[in-house]
Amino acid sequence: MSKENGSGRRSGPSLELALLDLPSAHPCHGCGQCCHYIATEIDNPSSFRDYDNLHWYLLHEDVCVYVDWEGDWFLEFRTTCRHLTPSRTCGIYEERPQICSEFSWDECEKSSDEPAWKYRFESYQELLDWLRKRRPKAYEKYMRARRKLVRKRREASGAASASPPPGA
Ligand code: SF4
Ligand code: SF4
Repeated sequence: MSKENGSGRRSGPSLELALLDLPSAHPCHGCGQCCHYIATEIDNPSSFRDYDNLHWYLLHEDVCVYVDWEGDWFLEFRTTCRHLTPSRTCGIYEERPQICSEFSWDECEKSSDEPAWKYRFESYQELLDWLRKRRPKAYEKYMRARRKLVRKRREASGAASASPPPGA
């Protein structure tokens, strides 16, 4: 498998997703699978804020976080490129971004027998389960800080609801 670039896509031989239909034998023919997401590299989490940002990302629909085989972390958004045509070709072939032209069709997610990720989190709970198992100290520390934060918020909202409304 070739090295991913900073956007979570593998670079290698040029993507042959042409403006017009490709020969039916071509692996990209009728596919366009790689045009349905974007991914960007994020920091390997270490602080409360890092883990809490992952929490935030994973609360959103069609967003996931994964760790690749080199241990780099990525944020993935499942969203279709506006220029993918109904016949699954690129509508802006000559003007497409460099990252698209560098994408490898012979090692892409469709052709590779190995997924692009070692770990993948589709939900906050999946992340917590992984953290508990793989980074137990970080998990304990993060959960302690979260519990404290939630307790403070609850106390603050309890105090606010107990006080008389302004002007009463
Ligand atoms: S996922 Fe692979 S086979 Fe499909 S269009 Fe992209 S490069 Fe081609
Ligand atoms: S610009 Fe073209 S190759 Fe790049 S993601 Fe969009 S449809 Fe796919």
